[in-house]
Amino acid sequence: MHILHQPISPTLANALTFSRDIGMFSLSRPISSCTHKTPACARCHQSKLYDLCGHVMVPKDINNEAAWIENDVDNLVSALRRKKADTSRIRLMCRGEAFSTLEDVTRVERLVSALTVNSKRLVWVSTRAWRDKSILKELLRLRREYRGLRILASIDDYSLDSPNDLENLHVWLQAGGGTMYFGDDTRRSFVVAGREYRMFECPKTHKGIKGACMTCRLGCFARNRRGGVEGVHVHLKRH
Ligand code: SF4
Repeated sequence: MHILHQPISPTLANALTFSRDIGMFSLSRPISSCTHKTPACARCHQSKLYDLCGHVMVPKDINNEAAWIENDVDNLVSALRRKKADTSRIRLMCRGEAFSTLEDVTRVERLVSALTVNSKRLVWVSTRAWRDKSILKELLRLRREYRGLRILASIDDYSLDSPNDLENLHVWLQAGGGTMYFGDDTRRSFVVAGREYRMFECPKTHKGIKGACMTCRLGCFARNRRGGVEGVHVHLKRH
């Protein structure tokens, strides 16, 4: 007997994946969306995964990207309501870049708006789009306007050595933006415009605590005493 497999329709609800590593649901895009990558991204573990199991990842990528462009956020909100697992934190993107182009700003904004309205849910985005001046401006605006949004500027040794990147990073840091560093496991701080920023050791990668992101309070989701979003600088260890 032949079993006919129904093709999975490319919706955000179907693209949603639970990751045990971070302990939450996330969306992903193909790594071709990483338009703001630096030379350090050549060592990205996702690129290595493509070498090993690209045949499984590529069909998913095609669906994920179609769903992202379609951007059916209402369907996604309904799907989250039906989940048994905790959906109070959602990650964009587990793989790929949420702000690949300026057009993505509208997509992220619709999604964050729908996911956080009348809810304490937090949407967590780690991005390299701050390297693009026009998108950086939008990131600063989104950060101000959406309390439920946690944006971290993803940084590495290349960015900390590049005059163009340092100029943008300085703007982000002055506005209180947080960062997520990956590269040298022995680094404890970084300097931008003469100021030293100490980094917080990520418990998931430094202590190997699986799923720590769902309950982590002092890292990417930290708030300061007045309830504002602290510019936390997270250090990720090779894992
Ligand atoms: S600092 Fe916390 S939330 Fe951020 S990656 Fe590490 S465990 Fe996850």
